[in-house]
Amino acid sequence: MTGRPDAQICPMHSEDLAALAYVGNDTLGWEFTCARDDHPSPGPFSWAAPDEPVDLGQSLGLDLRWSLPKAVQEASDSFGGGWVEYGLVERAWALANPDDWRMLVEKYDHRYFYGETATRASLPYSASKYLAGRLGALSRLRDVSYRSGRGTGYWSYLSKVSYWAPVSREASETVVNFEAAAVSMSAHMPTL
Ligand SMILES: [Zn+2]
Repeated sequence: MTGRPDAQICPMHSEDLAALAYVGNDTLGWEFTCARDDHPSPGPFSWAAPDEPVDLGQSLGLDLRWSLPKAVQEASDSFGGGWVEYGLVERAWALANPDDWRMLVEKYDHRYFYGETATRASLPYSASKYLAGRLGALSRLRDVSYRSGRGTGYWSYLSKVSYWAPVSREASETVVNFEAAAVSMSAHMPTL
């Protein structure tokens, strides 16, 4: 956590800065919500905001604007067809892009290598936070849909994590968390 981000305006209500609210979020840093009802999907619109400037992977030679929404789609297809916990998106992206995932893990590290006793504070940045931050940026662009929820399974050390859905499925009432998906972290983590 590097501090409170600058205010952001709703991408659909550029006149309405005051409607935003901050909600702390352990995966990403921050969450913004525009409380107005008149969004394309009726009701409040929330997006995730990383606490750092982001590009969408260009500086690392990655095209995350394409590959991350695809991973959200794949994870949704594999686990219930609606919303999925962040860890399932990470898994889908990593399995589809193993060389890029290894590069990110080598560059930014991952709590996985520190065992179950590692705390959030023990690893202030990580490959997970990097990917979650880019998903956050994509949620503001409405390339993916965002909500917050409880961290489960391996991710239960986080009180709140991000959940993701393809925009076309954001009205789905199906939510599959990491624990319910019953997948192991070792399937997508590289051996360093
Ligand atoms: Zn709005």
